[in-house]
Amino acid sequence: MADPRGFLKVRQRETQPRRPVPVRIMDWKEVYEAQDKGVLKSQAGRCMDCGVPFCHQGCPLGNLIPEWNDLTWRGKGEEAIERLHATNNFPEWTGRLCPAPCEASCVLGINQPAVTIKQVEVSIIDEAFENGWVQPLPPTRLSGKTVAVVGSGPAGLAVAQQLTRVGHTVAVYERDDKIGGLLRYGIPDFKMEKEQVDRRIEQMKAEGTRFRTGVNVGTDVTWEQLRRRYDAVVIATGATVPRDLPIPGRGLEGIHYAMDYLVPANRVVAGETVENQIDARGKHVVILGGGDTGADCLGTAHRHGAASVTTLAIGKQPPLERAAHQPWPTFPTLFEVASAHEEGGERTYLASTVEFIGEDGKLTGVKVAETEFVDGKRLPKAGTEHVIPADLVFLSLGFTGAEPAGITEQVHAEFDGRGNVARDGYYMTNTEGVFVAGDAGRGQSLIVWAIAEGRACAAAVDKHLMGSTILPAPVAPTDRAISVL
Ligand SMILES: Cc1cc2nc3c(=O)[nH]c(=O)nc-3n(C[C@H](O)[C@H](O)[C@H](O)COP(=O)(O)OP(=O)(O)OC[C@H]3O[C@@H](n4cnc5c(N)ncnc54)[C@H](O)[C@@H]3O)c2cc1C
Ligand code: SF4
Repeated sequence: MADPRGFLKVRQRETQPRRPVPVRIMDWKEVYEAQDKGVLKSQAGRCMDCGVPFCHQGCPLGNLIPEWNDLTWRGKGEEAIERLHATNNFPEWTGRLCPAPCEASCVLGINQPAVTIKQVEVSIIDEAFENGWVQPLPPTRLSGKTVAVVGSGPAGLAVAQQLTRVGHTVAVYERDDKIGGLLRYGIPDFKMEKEQVDRRIEQMKAEGTRFRTGVNVGTDVTWEQLRRRYDAVVIATGATVPRDLPIPGRGLEGIHYAMDYLVPANRVVAGETVENQIDARGKHVVILGGGDTGADCLGTAHRHGAASVTTLAIGKQPPLERAAHQPWPTFPTLFEVASAHEEGGERTYLASTVEFIGEDGKLTGVKVAETEFVDGKRLPKAGTEHVIPADLVFLSLGFTGAEPAGITEQVHAEFDGRGNVARDGYYMTNTEGVFVAGDAGRGQSLIVWAIAEGRACAAAVDKHLMGSTILPAPVAPTDRAISVL
């Protein structure tokens, strides 16, 4: 156990410091600064090594949190990364980007601030990379079986790494020019710099995973061709269809889906030249939707020098503390202050957008009414309409599911009623040998779920190919069951 009296001696959480706002909005680098090692140890020492560690239940990966808290407190970084990698292929991504459901279920959180689990996680993996403890783990023998993984986000990469390590020959197909999925071109560098993706790709290449970029499956090569060429195919194409807002004025110039803004912005940060990039400099920007995507647009617009940025959310402002109906250890909906929110901008709640206003075909404003709740429905309240000036609107209203991309016609895999690729309890679609993992099957979710599903799907594929498997399966497609196999 970490310090037996740690939680009594250190009663406050101390997380990683963030760079000063005026400095960090001048660049695209990560907003975080390294945490003092002494502070990190004393924070890890707050862990009580609970008999029933609810943090395990909170984490979809089943991370062995008390073990690596203890090892961090004892300064045993090499052992800590071994325990962390036992359940998580890519802790440098979750350690930076996860909303940390583990912390919401930490037992210490009942009457004190929870252990800074995510902070300990990222420190372990950063130290491991610095010290050369992250090495390729190639298989000792090959199985002779081949697998095509389509999509190179966290789900596809987790599937590929797990299957490569047990000896299958795995090729990852990606339609973009670079590997990484939303980590590459969706999530901005100020949340996670791309070096974090690049060095994992190098590790995976050294282990034997093959990467085929610039291949749009369904068009450049058909799903049926992959199905014939490989022993198994995994659909890990994400949930990329954006939700629209078909209200009057939608056709005006200046209204864009969030990803049409974020992807080119990320490419430019990566040093590429992008034609007709949406530029927010000097503009009044309105973001519709208050989630992660909206926050990423907010931080990007500030770095582009927007004159003002307003985020509109249709619902109520979430509470600062747990609501009574979301008691510990559930994951509560709370008012979140992400790094982008610290950097400025207005956040307005109970705001229903009813019309886009424009002149000569160009957007000039957004007509908004107060939201009222009628029979459980969110409706604009008559007589409360007002116009917010806007030159640019970014729609970050979520995603409605996976792109069909020939999946149904070419391999006859069906979609469910929620726009996701349907699968059974073993991640298999209704077509034998074709599996689905991550957002493509679950709907837009979180990186931690994508990795957990990727690991579990790999176990299902391995069992399908070999009859048995030693790979762990942390989650079932439909729930949080410990094992599906
Ligand atoms: C802007 C934004 C910010 C986010 N921020 C966070 C965050 O901070 N923390 C968090 O936990 N989650 C966040 N998320 C959610 C998270 O990124 C996703 O849940 C996660 O990336 C899903 O992983 P995936 O592998 O299933 O799919 P994706 O990451 O979407 O990857 C799918 C890949 O498949 C490729 N592809 C699709 N179709 C084809 C085809 N036909 N042929 C070849 N390739 C194809 C795509 O190009 C893409 O690279 C965010 C999401 C968005 C949109
Ligand atoms: S629930 Fe919190 S205090 Fe208990 S073992 Fe997990 S991290 Fe430590």
